[in-house]
Amino acid sequence: MSHQNSGARHPRRQPRDHVGQSDDSGEIPIHNLSESRIIVREDHAISRKDIDPDTLRVLYKLKDAGYESYLVGGAVRDLLMGRKPKDFDLATDARPRDLRRLFRNSREVGRRFRLVHVFFGPKNVEVATLRSMVEASSDGSGDLYVEEDNQWGDLESDSFRRDFTINALYYDIRDFAVIDYTGGVQDLHDRLIRCIGDPQVRFREDPVRMLRAIKFAARFGYTIEAETDRALRELGEEIHKASRFRVTEEIFRILTQANRERGLRLLHDYGILRVIYPEWLEAIGPDGFAQVAEFFAAVDKAAEEERYFPLEVLTTGLFLPLLDTVNVEKDHFHRIASRVTSEIRTLGIRMDLPKRLINSAMELLRGQLYMLFFAHLPKRVRRYVTAPFFDLVLRVNELAFGGVPELAELQATWTDARKALRQPLGGSVGTPDRRDIFSFRGATGGGRHNRGGGGGHRGVLHGSDTEDDDEVGDDAWLEKETAAWEAEDGAPAEGQAEGGNGGNGKGGRR
Ligand code: ATP
Ligand code: MG
Repeated sequence: MSHQNSGARHPRRQPRDHVGQSDDSGEIPIHNLSESRIIVREDHAISRKDIDPDTLRVLYKLKDAGYESYLVGGAVRDLLMGRKPKDFDLATDARPRDLRRLFRNSREVGRRFRLVHVFFGPKNVEVATLRSMVEASSDGSGDLYVEEDNQWGDLESDSFRRDFTINALYYDIRDFAVIDYTGGVQDLHDRLIRCIGDPQVRFREDPVRMLRAIKFAARFGYTIEAETDRALRELGEEIHKASRFRVTEEIFRILTQANRERGLRLLHDYGILRVIYPEWLEAIGPDGFAQVAEFFAAVDKAAEEERYFPLEVLTTGLFLPLLDTVNVEKDHFHRIASRVTSEIRTLGIRMDLPKRLINSAMELLRGQLYMLFFAHLPKRVRRYVTAPFFDLVLRVNELAFGGVPELAELQATWTDARKALRQPLGGSVGTPDRRDIFSFRGATGGGRHNRGGGGGHRGVLHGSDTEDDDEVGDDAWLEKETAAWEAEDGAPAEGQAEGGNGGNGKGGRR
């Protein structure tokens, strides 16, 4: 059976009596897919009890109103893999205006295409009308938009405009069959990420698909199919045409999902990092890249034990190699700290990172220097561990240098001082940090507190956030933090000796 997608091949949906037969292995039966592409209820593992109840309600309401009604995309893929889906997307032949009529609690949204959100309290179910192959055109901001009425299509056309075969599977609520036009079930079985149609064409059409291919390959530990792989190698450069917003979003998805290290290495191997973050790659060098990869390997390992870190910590990992040139014997803390933080600022801006993440990375990397330079000064140690962001500093240190024997004693000094405080050590949480980096408001999800027990909270790193905080450059708060945590005990600015008068400096405690 061949699954080479020529782009010209649009297999017709077969009548429902051409169905797969169960096989005893319990695996997804694939032997006669080439005829049917319909996997009946008995032959796949998706059960209604795995589907979110509100999503089911919407599926049934659509069906009862006489519309086609499918679960689609990532949810079908994840359920077939035996994973728990992040969210449930629906597809239907009902038009947005029909949907608005059918669901009173709904709203049309259109970041990339017109979709309808059906609300259930704070939660919503996303419903999309089946689309044709008409390609979205860019409106300049990089967001793709289609307005013409010929945008609507049927199940088949909707399949072929999707990105990868494993993302183009539909679960039909009428008979609980899975419908597969593109060979996605076979590719799930073979653990392959394969573009639908000609990968060269699909990547040129929307270069963000290259990042998505890497994202899915990393997350699931899948192989990128040969033709898709070749196109990625050839077209990596094209990523510079993509919207920076979408690029940043995908990069952070890769850094916050499973197998971060592999994701990062794939981005590097395919030459994507060279195009999107050239100054960063240059600044850290090849050894620096290895160090960053190791940092994310440590994050992966912690995640296997269900320990996760806030975005502030992960972002700081990207800049660790900037510490490499530090020489504790020769350098002055303030001089080196201001050099390193200004490097982060410059690079972070070039990388289009959100300002708050740049700021927190500056603070947390500076914290690494602080730990290095002042471990022998008990007063400073006792004071610094009470800084509201200290737990994040410690987490970065643990991830970055946890396995370095020469630093074990130094680390113990800080950890012991921290543990002497009443509050439990924070800075890691029991669920992945899924905050949207663009509406990021500095709720650390970590810091001194542990979110495991109950929901997010406003964090400690940037308590004074304001709406206009979004453009990069204002670092007044950082200077304030610095003043508060260093000048306080009256230590001379460049001083590496215990501060003079032991008095109550100007910084002020919060
Ligand atoms: P995740 O688990 O990360 O949410 P997903 O597959 O659901 O994975 P989404 O970004 O939520 O990914 O997109 C939903 C579906 O929309 C995809 O499964 C795919 O079918 C389609 N899709 C998303 N982005 C693109 C794109 N750039 N080009 C073509 N199809 C896309
Ligand atoms: Mg999704």
